[in-house]
Amino acid sequence: MKEFTGQNSPVMKARNRTAVLKLLLQRGPMARRDIAAALMLTPATITNVARELIQQGLVEENADLEVLPVAVTKKPIPIGIRADGAFAVGINLGFTGIGIGVLDLKGEIHALEVVYYTERHDPATVIAQVVETVGRVLAASAVDPTRIIGVGVGVAGVVDPGTGTVRSHLSLGWRDVKLGQLLEQALGRPVTVINNVHAIAVCERLYGVASHAANFVEILVSTIVGAAIVVDGELHRGLEAAAGLIGHTRVVQDGPVCTCGRRGCLEAVASNWALLRDAREAIARGEPTTIQDVEALMAGSVSMVPIYEAAKGGDHLAIELLRRQATYIGSSIASLLYLLDPDLVVVSGPVLDETIDLGGTDFLGIVRETAREQAMLLNVPDSRIQPSRFGLDAVTRGGASIVLDDFLDTAPFAERRRGPLPNGSFKTLR
Ligand SMILES: [Zn+2]
Repeated sequence: MKEFTGQNSPVMKARNRTAVLKLLLQRGPMARRDIAAALMLTPATITNVARELIQQGLVEENADLEVLPVAVTKKPIPIGIRADGAFAVGINLGFTGIGIGVLDLKGEIHALEVVYYTERHDPATVIAQVVETVGRVLAASAVDPTRIIGVGVGVAGVVDPGTGTVRSHLSLGWRDVKLGQLLEQALGRPVTVINNVHAIAVCERLYGVASHAANFVEILVSTIVGAAIVVDGELHRGLEAAAGLIGHTRVVQDGPVCTCGRRGCLEAVASNWALLRDAREAIARGEPTTIQDVEALMAGSVSMVPIYEAAKGGDHLAIELLRRQATYIGSSIASLLYLLDPDLVVVSGPVLDETIDLGGTDFLGIVRETAREQAMLLNVPDSRIQPSRFGLDAVTRGGASIVLDDFLDTAPFAERRRGPLPNGSFKTLR
């Protein structure tokens, strides 16, 4: 996803189509002459590109939309992306369960379901669960299965996106599982596997608050803490496709043990599981608290709801835990600001969906204040650290976004026409 510039040469026709699609996605419906001006192409070129994209079913004329009046007698009709131009299935293979949804080309989610892992975590069991849930979600979405271009899976762990192999999934205990290959066989569709935070970043660039930011960092505060880096509009994957694993950088010497086996990692002090562990320990020490469901918490529940609810009621322990989490995250963002000097940092995770007073400010307020204080040599207005709009579905949307992003980059090259797609369908799932 480079900046949206086009070139007026016959061999660049396909690239021009991609540039037009991405511009329309970013800005919404536009008149052809405005597209030409934005991409520095001739109006005739845009007229041709628009005709082809309309034939391909990816773009439509929005006759009912008003565009700015121009000093000509003929009113231009804006063109915009067709939501049903393509669909993708997104899968979040998370820490505690699986989220599955269908996303259209404009980034709207059509059906969504979350299922939890059973006692058995072996690949065959989890894949069977995925296949069954995909079938249900597709039926609920009422989307024509032949319009689905692929499946994207965001994984909480280290993956090799080239082969779709999950090198490690800490909660499932997987090592070198050929997930992409196994899922392709089970679903009969192309499958892309990617790190979960990388997936969110692509979604944020296509459909979220980072659509205008060429350089940004996404940070996920959830069961894990991780980051993804986008430079010049492109996701920076890194040598091992693991760029952004800041959750395992050490922030406390001799701190608590992490899921990776080392001590004092950011994730071991600032992830949701770290907070739940600290809550358990405090309750076991007899600290006064109004946190509910203490039994479930002590039995290892991974739900943050009791902490959030107690904090909303003014519980001292819950508020202190969340304040500390926000401070660690803000501090890490300061490091990222110094390291990369990005246009924007986007913070995602369940806590961003909550409205909790943490002593005159909220979670994001503490994050911003800490980052500002620590990165004092930089200018860090609130607008530079923004919350994601995607909430709990972020990784599911991200998985589908990876597929749609690739489609936007390559589909116009393939002279794709509307109608059944060539390589099989989901019919085996119905
Ligand atoms: Zn670690």
